[in-house]
Amino acid sequence: MQLPVTMKAMVLEEPKQSLVFKTVPLPVPLPQQVLIKVIACGVCRTDLHIIDGELTQPKLPLIPGHEIVGIVALTGNSVMNLKEGDLVGVPWLGYTCGTCKYCLNEQENLCDNAGFTGYTIDGGYAEYTVTNEKYCFQLSAMYGNASGAPLLCAGLIGYRSYSMINKNAINIGIYGFGASAHILIQVAISQGKKIFAFTRDGDKDAQKFALKLGAVWAGNSSQLPPEKLDAAIIFAPVGSLVPKALQAVDKGGIVVCGGIHMSDIPSFPYHILWEERTICSVANLTRNDGKAFLKIAPEIPVTTEINTYHLSKANEAINDLRNGNIHGAAVLVMS
Ligand SMILES: [Zn+2]
Ligand SMILES: [Zn+2]
Repeated sequence: MQLPVTMKAMVLEEPKQSLVFKTVPLPVPLPQQVLIKVIACGVCRTDLHIIDGELTQPKLPLIPGHEIVGIVALTGNSVMNLKEGDLVGVPWLGYTCGTCKYCLNEQENLCDNAGFTGYTIDGGYAEYTVTNEKYCFQLSAMYGNASGAPLLCAGLIGYRSYSMINKNAINIGIYGFGASAHILIQVAISQGKKIFAFTRDGDKDAQKFALKLGAVWAGNSSQLPPEKLDAAIIFAPVGSLVPKALQAVDKGGIVVCGGIHMSDIPSFPYHILWEERTICSVANLTRNDGKAFLKIAPEIPVTTEINTYHLSKANEAINDLRNGNIHGAAVLVMS
């Protein structure tokens, strides 16, 4: 592959500022890394939290983006399992140490020394990116385009959140019907679950979208569902939804918080937690989550609803996501 010496990228120079469209040097892969020609990169809510300064440890300047679909363009000297031309996906988890107590206990998502794509490692809002070969996934050919990008975080985190739920749960509530929800509902329905979708109050478009995808009920987050839930997953970064969801789940039920950042959770009476209800959060992903999800996604097959923007329009995509103007997922494309 003929490689340029520079590339276009959207760069975060300081938090709370717009990204800057720039020409930067082409990154050079280290021995264990591959250089990837980016086809598409999803815009995730986590990117908003980074840009807004709510996640406080980004490398700067930073190329955001951790839902990357691309083609291997060059391999480092010690790369074993990938070759030029391979179709790969790059997720949020970009590095783990392999030696901390979490890594040794199959909890690499909690690694003390982890690196994160598009946060502590440059990501995919660019024409090229480099990544350690051990942290990218081979993708089914059907996802070798913009439609595959949302699987890499929205899909994966949704799947990990869903994995926290008892396998026998049937009635599942989803609070916040965006990128993660629209993927997860397809997985859950394929496994016989009934989905109750909760949106911002009055967001009829999102409710219609959820019903179109097979939700048995869609309504406002302030409402109680018509049936008790066995479990609820909260994707919206809104802490006041936690007591709402607890009131909606039945005895023994679980409320899973799927986001990396959430506004404060208001205090609530103990009786809505009693009867062995549980609240938990989900952090990051393990590579095994990725392998499991990316195996079943093409079998179902999961499809995604995307709004595409050219790389140079990333700030527009971010604003649309922030303002709730996107149903499904926003994805940047490079050409
Ligand atoms: Zn570790
Ligand atoms: Zn994400």
